[in-house]
Amino acid sequence: MISYVKNQETEIVITDLGSEGEGIGKIDGFPFFVKGALPGDRILAGVTKVKKNYAFARVIKILEPSADRVSPKCEADRRCGGCRLQSLSYDAQLRYKTDKVKNILMRIGGVPEALLDKVMEPIIGMGENAEGPWRYRNKAQYPFGRDKEGKLVYGFYAGRTHDIITCDDCLISAPENGKVLENIVAWMNEHDLDPYDESNGTGLLRHVLIRKSRAYNELMVCLVINAKDLPWEKELVDKLTHCDEIASISYSVNMDNTNVIMGREYHTVYGKDTIKDRIGGLEFNISPLSFYQVNPVQTEKLYSTALEFADLKGDEVVWDLYCGIGTISLFLAKHAKKVCGVEIVPQAIDDAKNNAKENGISNAEFYVGAAEEILPAYYENNSDDMTHPDVVVVDPPRKGLDEKCIETIVKMTPERVVYVSCDPATLARDIRIFAENGYVLKRVRACDMFPQTVHVETVVLLIRKK
Ligand code: SAH
Repeated sequence: MISYVKNQETEIVITDLGSEGEGIGKIDGFPFFVKGALPGDRILAGVTKVKKNYAFARVIKILEPSADRVSPKCEADRRCGGCRLQSLSYDAQLRYKTDKVKNILMRIGGVPEALLDKVMEPIIGMGENAEGPWRYRNKAQYPFGRDKEGKLVYGFYAGRTHDIITCDDCLISAPENGKVLENIVAWMNEHDLDPYDESNGTGLLRHVLIRKSRAYNELMVCLVINAKDLPWEKELVDKLTHCDEIASISYSVNMDNTNVIMGREYHTVYGKDTIKDRIGGLEFNISPLSFYQVNPVQTEKLYSTALEFADLKGDEVVWDLYCGIGTISLFLAKHAKKVCGVEIVPQAIDDAKNNAKENGISNAEFYVGAAEEILPAYYENNSDDMTHPDVVVVDPPRKGLDEKCIETIVKMTPERVVYVSCDPATLARDIRIFAENGYVLKRVRACDMFPQTVHVETVVLLIRKK
C-alpha cells in the first residue's frame, strides 16, 4: 500500500460528495477529502493531512472540470461557506441531496436499500421558481463586529468560527437587507455606538435579524443588544422608516455570554409586534422570537407533503409536536377533527393561538413546553381521544426526537407518524427506534428547502404494523 505525506501532490478523480459538501476521491481505495472539489472533477491535489484510513487534500488545479460544474454566483463563495454547493448545477445538487438522504437512512437507520428504492419519492426542488433556487430566504441574522482595522462590519460567521465574513448582498437572502444594514451602520456611527465584543462582553449591537413577508412585502427588523434599553431609539426609527416596507422594528435584550442569538423577550419600538405572511391560503403572524420556515416557496410544498402523508379524512385527532407558530397544525386542522400543537417557545404559542383565531380555526389547541415533557404528562394524566391519536406529526430541530418523546408516541399507538426533519442523520437514528417498536417506513420524500447549501429537509411516513 502506498503511503502519503503532507504537501505531496497527486492527481485525484472525485467521485462523491461528503456530508459537508466536500469532494471525495479514492486512490487504490484510500479516500481523500477535498474541499471545493466536485464529483466528476479531475484535479491536481496537495495533501494537507494524512490519517490512518483517509487523508485531506486541497485543490491545486482543476485538470478537467466536472460536467456538473457551474460558475459560482456569489463573490463571498470561498470565504463564507454557507452556499457550498453553488458550483454544482441545480440538477446535480438535487441528485446529491437524494443520495445523501438515501445513504444516511441505510447507514444510520438500517433501512434496507431495496425498501428505500420502493418508498423514496423524487426530491421536491425549486428550479421552476422565477428567481430559480436563489433569493429564497425570508430571514437573515447578521452578526456585527469590528474588522482588524477596527472598522464596523456585519456579515456572516465563516463556517464554525466567529470571524465575520462581510458580504454586501447575500444571494439567497432578500435584496432589501443591504439597505437596512447600511442604515443601521450609519446610525451607529452617528451616535458612536459599538458592536458587541464577545471577548470582553462590551459594546451594544450583537446581531440584526431581518425577516421578510413575501406575501405582504413587509420587513421586520430586530436588533439584538447587549444593554437593558435601546439608546437613540427615535433616531434609529427615523433612519429605518425611510423605506416603506418596514412594518416592525424591535429590540431583544441578550446580555449573556452565549452563542444563542436572540434574547428571551423583545420590545417593539415601531410598527407592529408581528409581521404577517400567507402560506397555502392561511395567514400567519410571526414574532421575532418565533421559528418560521425560511423558504416560503418550498414550505408550501413541504406542508402539502406532510398533509398528504397524514392522509386525513376529517375525523382524526392529531398531535403536532414542535409546532412553532402552528403552521402545520393549522394546515392539518382544516382536514381533521382536532389538532393539538406543542412548542417550547412561549411567544410562538402566542402566535399560534392568534393564528388559529385569525384563520377561523377552532379545532386546534396549543400547549407550551417541551414535547418530551408535555406528551408523557398528557398521556399519564388523561384518558381521552388525544391519548390515542390517529396521527402524530413531529418537526423537531436538528437534534431530533428525545427518546422519552418516541417512547410516549409508541405508547399512544397512532396509525401514522409523519416525521418532518431538517437533519437526515437524527431522522435515521429515530426511524430505527420506531422500527424496533413496530413502525414501518412507508414513504420518504426529500424537499429542497435550502438550495445551494448542503442541508436537506425530509418528510417520512411511518405506519404501525397491525
Ligand atoms: N413545525 C414548525 C416549527 C418547526 S422548527 C414549522 O414548520 O414552522 C422546530 C420547533 O421546535 C421550533 O419552533 C422550536 O422552538 C421548537 N422546539 C425546540 N425544542 C423543543 C422541545 N423540546 N419541545 C417542543 N418544541 C421544541
